[in-house]
Amino acid sequence: MRAVALYDRAVTGNTKGWVDRDSAVVWHGFTQMSVYPDNSPVIVDHAEGHEVIDVEGNRYLDAISSLWVTTLGHCVPELDDALRAQIDRGAHTTMLGNGNRVVIELSEALTQVVPVNDPHFLYASDGACAVEQALKIAFQYWINRGVTGRNKFLAFGGAYHGDTIGALSVGARGFGTDIFDPLLFPVLRAPGFDDPTWPDAALRMIETNASQLAAVIVEPLVQGASGIQLGDPDGLAALAETCREHNVLLICDEVATGFGRTGTLFACEAAGIRPDLLCLGKGLTAGYLAMSATVASGPVFDAFLGPDLSEKTLYHGHSYSGNALAAAVAIRHLELLKAWNVLANVRERSSELKGLLDDRITSLPAVKDVRLQGLMAGIELAPPADGLLWGRKVCAATVARGVLLRPLGDVVVLMPPLTITSEEIHRIVGTLAEAITEVTA
Ligand SMILES: *Cc1c(COP(=O)(O)O)cnc(C)c1O
Repeated sequence: MRAVALYDRAVTGNTKGWVDRDSAVVWHGFTQMSVYPDNSPVIVDHAEGHEVIDVEGNRYLDAISSLWVTTLGHCVPELDDALRAQIDRGAHTTMLGNGNRVVIELSEALTQVVPVNDPHFLYASDGACAVEQALKIAFQYWINRGVTGRNKFLAFGGAYHGDTIGALSVGARGFGTDIFDPLLFPVLRAPGFDDPTWPDAALRMIETNASQLAAVIVEPLVQGASGIQLGDPDGLAALAETCREHNVLLICDEVATGFGRTGTLFACEAAGIRPDLLCLGKGLTAGYLAMSATVASGPVFDAFLGPDLSEKTLYHGHSYSGNALAAAVAIRHLELLKAWNVLANVRERSSELKGLLDDRITSLPAVKDVRLQGLMAGIELAPPADGLLWGRKVCAATVARGVLLRPLGDVVVLMPPLTITSEEIHRIVGTLAEAITEVTA
């Protein structure tokens, strides 16, 4: 009972009080905690629609979709209802050796839309785990088929696949993670999407190393975390074709691009490719609950079939795999994406955003490059010296104006909800233009 009084909101209702309590007990990811309280963190009290509301009642337009996960906004009544209905049917039961009706229904619904042939779904909670699962499946696939020596992965410069050790290994480091290099396994590294020769270089590496390659892993169309770098669809199609010719598995990491972000339901569609393994996360539950999935094609799945308890089994599984609450929300989310014609809004708002960025942002002297695909935009600033922290300062200036943004280094990322309105797009760009002008003057 005393704990209730201690945590009564009225005791410390101001931001300073909450930040003190926060930094005393919470460790924030990718955040230097010694300065966390000084960087004006927003302490969210609640969220609704496209906004988050802090403990003092200030409202912020969530222009990063709570770090790329929110698709339809916060507190969507239809999703809330789906969640409430599932609560009465049980929050979670294990997927290890048993099933759950709502997870079967979700998998059936996803089967209709994922760009994978005869898909089978292995669920986890985070994008990194979906990647981890894909890497292990690709590795074991060859062993199960009696093929030796296929134990390497080809990944790309600028890649980001998550922060677990396997996912970090195929990622291109950066973000201060170099310190973990001694723990990571070596990979073949093709150039990133920022280098226009990436497809040719990757194709040659596949041709030369095919007999050692378990799989190629790529973020189709957009490398998000490296600052919204765009890879052309023809290059991706050629990559998929070369993988097929040389019998190398293709893993597409659509954790960021999946569920409409790039203008099609999956980025693979724009390149017309169908990977052997597909990683889903972020938008799968509309940003509601932690759920990810590794989708395996029929032939990949079949390679794991064998006698009970045999070595062909995939010995991997997570406690919260196939969480029923998340599955219920994910099903409703798929229905709403269609019923609300959300992809049309993504495409319309994207071309509107392109026009506004061209008008208001591209010509600013502090702006080096503007990249956009669907509702993923990167505005790269060009600070004249190191250490000016333009990315962070510009985002702080937009936050002060009520638009929540977060940079990747000196790239300001715009990743609004897929249901963003025209008026809100205008507000985001107008605010950003003011902030860039103020900070870089
Ligand atoms: C965010 C992201 C991940 C990692 O997902 P988490 O849920 O943060 O573990 C993996 N791949 C891509 C492309 C991502 O954008």
